[in-house]
Amino acid sequence: MTLYSLYAQRKWDWNPIETKLAAVYLHPDLTVDSFSPSEEEIESVKSEVKGCFNQMLELEPAFGPADIDKFPKTGTDFDCAWCRFQGICKPDLLKTEQS
Ligand code: SF4
Repeated sequence: MTLYSLYAQRKWDWNPIETKLAAVYLHPDLTVDSFSPSEEEIESVKSEVKGCFNQMLELEPAFGPADIDKFPKTGTDFDCAWCRFQGICKPDLLKTEQS
């Protein structure tokens, strides 16, 4: 949720610590959990996002082709059941499901 306050800062120049964030749960009962993020929470989220971004860049550069060896196929068909890349990755598995 705190990441939304950073989006609001970028998009509308809002001060993220003055952003009121609200999670609205509909089940089992209507519950609203709202808060304004602290500076520590904002810095923590920034650090986490930068860390994730750097991990992605290690796997795949922003420019140029990716190294396919860094993306091994999963070993179990169970993991592939809902994957949209079955047609190009495991076409035999797709044929089995259609028959
Ligand atoms: S079908 Fe999807 S989940 Fe399965 S190995 Fe290929 S890319 Fe990975």
